[in-house]
Amino acid sequence: MSTESSSTETSSSTSPDGSETSSSTSPDGSEIASSSSPDGSEIPSSSPEVCETPPSTAAACCGGPDGGPGCALSALRRSSGPRPTVTVAEETPLPDAPSPVSSAVSGATSAPASSGWVSSGWASASSASASSGSAGRVRWLLADSIWWGGRLRKGVALRVAADGVVKPVPVELAPDGDDTRRLPGTLLPGLVDAHVHSALVDLGEVRAGGIAEVWDLGGVPATVAELAGRALEAGSGLPRVRYAGPFLIAPGGYPSDRPWAPVGSWREISTADDAGSAVAEARAAGATLIKVTAHAGGPQLTPPVLTSLVEAAHVSGLRVVVHAEGVGTVEAAYTAGADVLAHTPWTERIDDTLLRACAQHMTWISTLDIHGWGAPDPAREIAVDNLRRFAGCGGTVRYGTDLGNGPLPAGINVREVGLLQSAGLTPDEVLIAMTETAGSTVSWIADGLDLDVSRFADVLATARVLDAV
Ligand SMILES: [Zn+2]
Repeated sequence: MSTESSSTETSSSTSPDGSETSSSTSPDGSEIASSSSPDGSEIPSSSPEVCETPPSTAAACCGGPDGGPGCALSALRRSSGPRPTVTVAEETPLPDAPSPVSSAVSGATSAPASSGWVSSGWASASSASASSGSAGRVRWLLADSIWWGGRLRKGVALRVAADGVVKPVPVELAPDGDDTRRLPGTLLPGLVDAHVHSALVDLGEVRAGGIAEVWDLGGVPATVAELAGRALEAGSGLPRVRYAGPFLIAPGGYPSDRPWAPVGSWREISTADDAGSAVAEARAAGATLIKVTAHAGGPQLTPPVLTSLVEAAHVSGLRVVVHAEGVGTVEAAYTAGADVLAHTPWTERIDDTLLRACAQHMTWISTLDIHGWGAPDPAREIAVDNLRRFAGCGGTVRYGTDLGNGPLPAGINVREVGLLQSAGLTPDEVLIAMTETAGSTVSWIADGLDLDVSRFADVLATARVLDAV
């Protein structure tokens, strides 16, 4: 099934965004002692079973952007060109408080390279705000507790700026008045599914099921762009949508031979010289991610062409998401400088050397539940093992389901959350993988977040998108 599943998504699987990382960076000025941070669970990165090599060894091998001398894989990884500088509003520190988010949440935390990408990918937050009738006003949200910046805390309010950007601030700053809304339970950044195919699902159901934002990784850009614009309209009932450009593929390559991949959802790249124009076209269509396929089952882009695509994307401030399927494809993606894998590798066990190198540079989108959809599946076991070791070595993980690929539930997927936990992520780390700090959506758990490992997934599934934020 995994093969089919992968084929399905194929059409769409690319979405990354540079921003995930930022979720862990945000602080809130409220470092408040009252923070009830939960989970004292052990950090996977320090667990020997998870990462067989001590972190220091990994650092020695692949400690820098280009890796250390002596690291064969790092040496192979080509320069991917200048990285864009940080311009993201999300990086703005919260009032008074640089409270560093615990680096303990390493599994899903900071991805050094991700902080400067064409940021949001969302159509303007201010237009969204205007559409909800709140333009020009600062509003405040209060709740029993707030999960933000990697931990659960009390004594914090959310400030919704006129442009729609939401940030935590000390509760004392929230005024009494009509612009302050009080709710029971827990507020948290809008939950994000980083791998969906909007052409294959009902996004209204997805939002009703608790997902505030999605990354469409496989569609016809013009069609997805129209949907993304509609999602910003007041009362649309749709999640925010960011999207990748068409699959950039070798002539005749995957998924152009698949019935589910309509013309327009893929673009053939014949030469390195064509890379720049392909990236420019995608960007002009509104894409904030570039999707590329590396599929061992058919024609593949050559290493020079793949590298040229990555370099062109990086020059434009776009991250590259690769659908890597089959032996050698993860290494090809890594070597070319790709930023994100659309799926946790499932066709082969990634050896420790490559895996540590990937953990230094890449984000992996989970998509664990497409293997078996709840039933035991050998591919799922391979993927969970790869993700456990990747996260254990500090790799950045994003929650993504490949929604549209088989019988996956619309909305928050409890099985995907449970599989992330089985891969060693703590509840806080799962939430980091599901949120982006700089967003302008808010999710709400009416009965309150529960970070107990045995109850977390079911409680999280009750989260809903807070309307009119
Ligand atoms: Zn997909």
